[in-house]
Amino acid sequence: MPAAKGLDLSHLPPAQQKAIAELGISLQDEQLLWIAEHAMHVELPPDWVEFEDDDGNQAYYHAKTKRLTTEHPVIFKYKQFVDKVRKFQERMGTIGRKVKPHLAVIMNEVLNRIYRELPPVTPEIIERLAVLMYINTTTEHDTTRRLKIAIESYAEDQYDIALQAQQKADMDTFLHEVRNEQIRLEVLNKPDAVIMCTEIEGQPARVKCEQCKDFFSLEGFAATHATGKRKNHTTVKCEQTTCSVYPDQLATCEVDNTLFCDQAYEEVAQRQPHIRQKRKKVLGGLSCSEYPATVAEVLCEDCSDLYCWEAFIELHRRGNRLRHVPLRLDAEGQLYRAGELLPPEECARLIDRARLAREGGPWLAFQDDQLNTYWYHLSDKITTQQNPYL
Ligand SMILES: [Zn+2]
Ligand SMILES: [Zn+2]
Repeated sequence: MPAAKGLDLSHLPPAQQKAIAELGISLQDEQLLWIAEHAMHVELPPDWVEFEDDDGNQAYYHAKTKRLTTEHPVIFKYKQFVDKVRKFQERMGTIGRKVKPHLAVIMNEVLNRIYRELPPVTPEIIERLAVLMYINTTTEHDTTRRLKIAIESYAEDQYDIALQAQQKADMDTFLHEVRNEQIRLEVLNKPDAVIMCTEIEGQPARVKCEQCKDFFSLEGFAATHATGKRKNHTTVKCEQTTCSVYPDQLATCEVDNTLFCDQAYEEVAQRQPHIRQKRKKVLGGLSCSEYPATVAEVLCEDCSDLYCWEAFIELHRRGNRLRHVPLRLDAEGQLYRAGELLPPEECARLIDRARLAREGGPWLAFQDDQLNTYWYHLSDKITTQQNPYL
């Protein structure tokens, strides 16, 4: 495989060199080498199988959707992430800008604020930091929230270290933490794209033609296979649960046998509030707050958070937390208190509150220089003194 042009990669492990080539990272992209560092540990998700095709090429097959590709499905997501980062750099005019020296300037500013007994960060600092880390604050609310937590805890640690030893720890821990989160949200947890009909625009695929090898909606297949030789073509099912409102999005919940993605459910519930009283079945399960790769098994009412049993037990060993009572959560997102199924509205309210506490939406809390709390809206870039969550 050809090495990326201009970069001296000879000191890097072969797996990383391979990842760099696969992701198409070149000289101008030296600041993106960390993405290849993650990509070299890539694993095939459980619903994919790997095999060698007739030409001896590595190929990947997804049994449910019948998707067949010669590109590793996770490497594909990494490439999309690299593209996204490049476009962001172009928009912001930061191509080739070195991250660490600029990060050091911001860190210094944050530390100075702490010395002056001010809250460590302001929305303006977070916005500048996000540009440096290739995070689009307008849309990537979870990553921005994590960025704020990471810089605050880094700064507190730094402050303690500086007081004791008058030395500076390096920024690698901070970079590592934020970038892990970016990879988790933007690559590893990114849902697969919906396979669309190749014939009728806007319709999700329901079958794959075994002879044409193309994907079709039922209508699209009928329209193209009514006459001639194609009449004898056979199909296999392409299984994907898509949103009934936005067919190019995967569904995340089901109400009254109708499938919705999160956005569609919210929009429909705004117009027809009575659907909130109906049982909402969560598809694919909710994940544990502590171990995001694990399915949540309980909801702690007092923490207002979702955990797997292991995480719940770990976090509730001591102090006040010993008294917290977990509600059992089943695979469909229903909650049980002492074995008793909760009413639909209470289930939905508790789960939505826990998800909001975790994901937070667009509002981010800050303190002003007098230590009064205010909220900053990441999309609209406005502030308010009124708690938007009440
Ligand atoms: Zn066909
Ligand atoms: Zn708790």
